Amino acid sequence: MRPMDEEQLRECGHRMVDFIADYYKSIETYPVLSQVQPGYLKELLPDSAPNQPDTLDALFDDIREKIVPGVTHWQSPNYFAYYPSNSSTAGFLGEMLSAAFNIVGFSWITSPAATELEVIVLDWVAKMLKLPSEFLSAALGGGVIQGTASEAILVVLLSARDRTLRKHGKKSLEKIVVYASDQTHSALKKACQIAGIFPENIRIVKADCSMNYAVTPGAVSEAISIDLSAGLIPFFICATVGTTSSSAVDPLHELGQIAQAHDMWFHIDAAYAGSACICPEYRKYLNGVEEADSFNMNAHKWFLTNFDCSLLWVKDRNYLIQALSTNPEFLKNKASQENSVIDFKDWQIPLGRRFRSLKLWMVLRLYGVENLQSYIRKHIQLAQHFEQLVISDPRFEVVTPRNFSLVCFCLVPPTCEVDNGHKLNYDLMDSANSSGKIFISHTVLSGKFVLRFVVGAPLTEEQHVDAAWKLLQDEATKLLGNVVQ
Ligand code: PLP
Repeated sequence: MRPMDEEQLRECGHRMVDFIADYYKSIETYPVLSQVQPGYLKELLPDSAPNQPDTLDALFDDIREKIVPGVTHWQSPNYFAYYPSNSSTAGFLGEMLSAAFNIVGFSWITSPAATELEVIVLDWVAKMLKLPSEFLSAALGGGVIQGTASEAILVVLLSARDRTLRKHGKKSLEKIVVYASDQTHSALKKACQIAGIFPENIRIVKADCSMNYAVTPGAVSEAISIDLSAGLIPFFICATVGTTSSSAVDPLHELGQIAQAHDMWFHIDAAYAGSACICPEYRKYLNGVEEADSFNMNAHKWFLTNFDCSLLWVKDRNYLIQALSTNPEFLKNKASQENSVIDFKDWQIPLGRRFRSLKLWMVLRLYGVENLQSYIRKHIQLAQHFEQLVISDPRFEVVTPRNFSLVCFCLVPPTCEVDNGHKLNYDLMDSANSSGKIFISHTVLSGKFVLRFVVGAPLTEEQHVDAAWKLLQDEATKLLGNVVQ
């Protein structure tokens, strides 16, 4: 194969698209969760790269025989684990076009369309979410595409840290404190590690199980008061809309008020559930976002946009730029020097960046807001349906009320079980996943092993939810039959 040949690309490209379309057509024939053992691929591939080129045919054979068995099929309609990672025709086409241009859009000048399209589509989505006008590019704020929510959280934490250190002096690093709940994603802890926040200054406030695992403002206030009395400097609160374990929603308004009272940065992580808030009936979950300094949601989770595409908005972009900009001679150019353009290199960790706005633009244009809303609603209705199925079987229980498309449930252990049903539910998950027919995941809430069933894959229909439930019921019957009552 030549490095770049139009005719060859046309022919091979058609073959690859056919291969991918066939893959999607037959996706249900594969085990959803890959069943290979660790190290399986080393046994199948040579120790070193080929000296002479291989043929595309040989490669396709290897993909079918050696790679696909080691793939867990996130696009399968029977995928119900973690949170989803959507692919769509529009998102996929956007990825193809982005790969074709293959620009590295760190500064406006390196591809003006990439920067300007990103600004426009982030404004579009901000308006769909009814974010306050301060988050739009016409104001002091604006949106930017990060690779992941983890990067989004890291860059705002760095912005907040530097804002605080400018106010209190560099030597205050050892005194600045971060607040979050024990349900906040581990991405925050990692961000703190990278940002040099002292480990003893990370306050993990226990979420309230009676509030469905949202954190209470009182608990956060109390932690802040104790720290203030000890001479520490509270500087960052992270709230979540749609926590990873149980899709809990923290009280945004109250937490925002607390942050404001203490001149703290207030970030809202809505990586999964943010997408649902484009529907008027779910927008209430963002009430209080007016108080936030920054907000993120992953378009690559539940918004039909292929990975990676994490959307971050800030109220004041200058804090990002102050924390992250560099200006080496070799990147200087007229537009940047005149301050007439955005250079997204100054809003993120790496220098290089892909043309990711293309796929989001194509998703928004080729589906439109109404279809995206219907897509979300359908998944939430299917989750509601699953929840009803669980409720209808007295052997099971729903563990926390459902907010979006995640149902947290478990098989109720017979009274003689000493481990609160941990082994029973682990075995249920394991047997269901080992069947290859579905993939679900788990969490632990208040010491209890809980199964998570998330509807969010683009191909999932009611029949898949029903079949998954039937499988779980059958496996439960087998397991309970083995339990000595
Ligand atoms: N925040 C929340 C609430 C999440 O659920 C997740 C992942 O599921 C993340 C952050 C991390 O996302 P990413 O993989 O984009 O860093």
